[in-house]
Order: sequence, then C-alpha cells, then structure tokens
Amino acid sequence: MSEIQQKKLSKHTVPFGALYKQYQNLQMEIDEAIRSTIRSSNFIGGAPVAEFETAFGDLIGEPLVVACANGTDSIEIILESFGIGIGDEVLVPAISWISTAEAVSRVGATPVFVDIDPVTFCIDASIIPKWITSKTKAILPVHLYGRAADMSSICKIAATNNLKVIEDCAQAHLSIHKNKYVGTWGDAASFSFYPGKNLGAYGDAGCMVFKEAEFEKIARQIAHHGQVKKHHHLRIGRNSRLDTLQAAILLAKMPNLKEWTEMRRNIAEEYNTRITNKYLTLPELLSNEHVYHLYVIKTDDRQALISYLNSNGIESAIHYPTALPFLQCYEFLKLSPTNFPIATSIQHKILSIPLYPELSSEDISYIVDKLNDFSPSV
Ligand SMILES: *Cc1c(COP(=O)(O)O)cnc(C)c1O
Repeated sequence: MSEIQQKKLSKHTVPFGALYKQYQNLQMEIDEAIRSTIRSSNFIGGAPVAEFETAFGDLIGEPLVVACANGTDSIEIILESFGIGIGDEVLVPAISWISTAEAVSRVGATPVFVDIDPVTFCIDASIIPKWITSKTKAILPVHLYGRAADMSSICKIAATNNLKVIEDCAQAHLSIHKNKYVGTWGDAASFSFYPGKNLGAYGDAGCMVFKEAEFEKIARQIAHHGQVKKHHHLRIGRNSRLDTLQAAILLAKMPNLKEWTEMRRNIAEEYNTRITNKYLTLPELLSNEHVYHLYVIKTDDRQALISYLNSNGIESAIHYPTALPFLQCYEFLKLSPTNFPIATSIQHKILSIPLYPELSSEDISYIVDKLNDFSPSV
C-alpha cells in the first residue's frame, strides 16, 4: 500500500489533550529540571520550591505565594487560615469541579450553592445578596473554564457584607477581569497545577496566593505540619507540600504560559468565526481576557453530538455532568432544582471540545468541518 493510500484509510483522530506532545516540545528543559532535582536529591523543600513561589508571584503580580500539594488542599488551607469552619457558610457556584465545595465541607463549613450566569458560566453575582445570611463568611467564585467571574461586583458585595473573597483560579491562570489578573482580586486565591491545567505539573501540585502576610504565614504553617521552624509545631497542621520535582517541572514550563495562553485564544477565535452550526451555541469570545482552559459549547442533543464526534475520532468531555447541589455527596442538603434553574438546565447541554496549544491547523479545520456537518437525530 502506498503512503497516500494508507493515509486515506487511517482516520483522523483528535485526542482531548496532548501532554506528551507538550513534553516533546520542551524535552530538554524538563529533562534537565528532573535530572538536576535528582542530582541534588533534595526532594522535599528543595530550592525550586521557593523559586517557584517567587516566579509565580512575579508572573501574576502578587508576591505572597504558598506552594502546596494540590489545588484542593489550597482551598481548604485558605479557608482554615481565615478561621472558617463549623457553623459557617461559604457561597460557591452551583457548577464547578467538586474541589470547590468539598474544601468548604472538609473544614466543617457548609457550601451554599448559588446559580450561575448563563453566559459566563460563573457564579451569578446579581443573586449573591439573596443567599447571604448571618452565618456567611466568604464568597468562593470559580473562574470556570478560564473565564473570570464578575470580580468587581463580587468584591463590592463582599466589602459591604464583611465577607472574605477566595478565588478558585484552578482553570484560569493569567485570566483577566477588568485589566487585572484573576487571583489578585480577592483576599486569597487558589491555583491548581494538575497535569491538564493550563500550567500543569507531572502529578499533583497547587498554590495559594494571599493579600495579607498575616494569613500567608498561617497557611504556610498549616501546610507544613503547623511548624514555625523545624520541630516547633505551633498549631495542628498537616502535610501539604509541593514536591521539589513538581516545582522544578513547573519552573521549566512557566516561561511558556503566556504564549500558550495566546495560542489557546487564537484557536478559540478560529472556532468562534468558523463554527456556524445553528444547533451549537459557542462560548462568548473574549480574546483578551478568557484563557480557554476549556472550550465549552452547548447543544440540546448532547448524546447525539458525543456519538457523532466519537465516530469521527474526536474526543470530547463533560465539565461537569452533574451540578454540585445534585451530587450524591450533597443529597443530605436536600436542595431543590428550582433554586438553580440555569445550572439544572445547562448540565445537560454542555460539552467540551479539544482546545490546547498543540492542536495543528489540520486538527482545527477537521474539528470545525465535523462540527459544521453535525445535525441532531431528531
Ligand atoms: C482542578 C480544579 C481544582 C483543584 O484540583 P486539584 O486536582 O486538587 O489540583 C479546584 N477547582 C477547580 C474548579 C478545578 O478545576
């Protein structure tokens, strides 16, 4: 068989992510980061950890950074640093990854779910005041899919009601709201460097960002067994450190984050101009703000679209199939869908399609063409 014949037969496939491709493009830097960590054999608390904190702080322009084990611990430790716990309520969006609510529950507080805005997919700031009670201690907005929540409104509401603002930036590294990076609006922010995030480690990794040194100090102690210095355990803490190896890998990748973000924005722009199928609703294009961690479209016949894409070799994913109030672990709260009409309806329509810097222009054209050819079974 000739090469051309073979090519015709082999189907075009587009995976949902391309972490190995990313590695191949940066192989020298990453291999050297790993090798030098092994050479030093300082696997816990090695120099790259502090270097990472400084570099990430410089990147977003907020110096008080505490590295930790993952982006769920970071939310939990931030809450604990602020003294939020049993009897307290924290407002969270009705759609997010479980971490956002889980961390609130883990410190003994109650997550109070607030419906999302149908356009931004983020917490609907206009209805936040309705959910504030005497027990409310904080608002925990999530910059979902990489688009910033309405931070200026949220911070105003928080100031009026004496609440802390904790930003969940796990999906939104370098995302911008009103000319200001996310993670620099609230009293604190949580970042995840889970491998598939816009800046990802080779395992679990996360960090916290603080406005005030007082809380940064407490959080650092909590994440390091409550120590002020070695063997001086001031408080009951826990072990939530960033591995030296992960810090070194993140440092090797970080110089590329701005360029990767631009590439994500360019692909989103192509999708938005070239996908014209009336059965699909595209996310709003915000090329200078959104960082498109996920490109999430809506359709009334999602199952048909998933099967169609699958049969054409295009992977897709749902973020997330069940809104937080309706997850089994929150059944005990007995929450009613009538309180979350947008989340209730959107959870059945959203679908994430491949978007990452390593997509080739052939991949992009292929995805665009296939999406434009889709029509639902009905
Ligand atoms: C990824 C993510 C987290 C944290 O995840 P980890 O895997 O614990 O690092 C938190 N919130 C959201 C919205 C996320 O997407």
